[in-house]
Amino acid sequence: MVKRIDHVAVVVENLEAALAFWRDALGLPLTRTERNETEGVAIAFLPVGESEIELLEPTDAESGIGRYLAKRGQGMHHVCVEVDDIEGTMARLTAHGVELINETPRLRDDGTRYAFVHPRSASGVLVELYQKPTG
Ligand code: ZN
Repeated sequence: MVKRIDHVAVVVENLEAALAFWRDALGLPLTRTERNETEGVAIAFLPVGESEIELLEPTDAESGIGRYLAKRGQGMHHVCVEVDDIEGTMARLTAHGVELINETPRLRDDGTRYAFVHPRSASGVLVELYQKPTG
């Protein structure tokens, strides 16, 4: 079951410049920023209700996000939906002929498991599935 939108991720050239809109003009709180060296990206988290806007600035031009920015420019990167059973959701999607980018869930440091659905199967939108750790 899909519970809610966890976050919407936006690729930006520069976090500070992007915050002039998202934080200063629109008025969203900036709760934290984080550098993920593995993925070559710096992330700013701005909550909106029970969801978040995540601004992604590549710190490495050769990272996935760096190459995306070079090719497509700034813009919406993906929508993440939280599910309560990621394996079950992935099996259901596969049964519906949906193409998954990750065949098995990947693991974040905080215990969140995630996987991506190919945009070809999702109206041109990269969709991320999240299952948060319980307890
Ligand atoms: Zn995400």
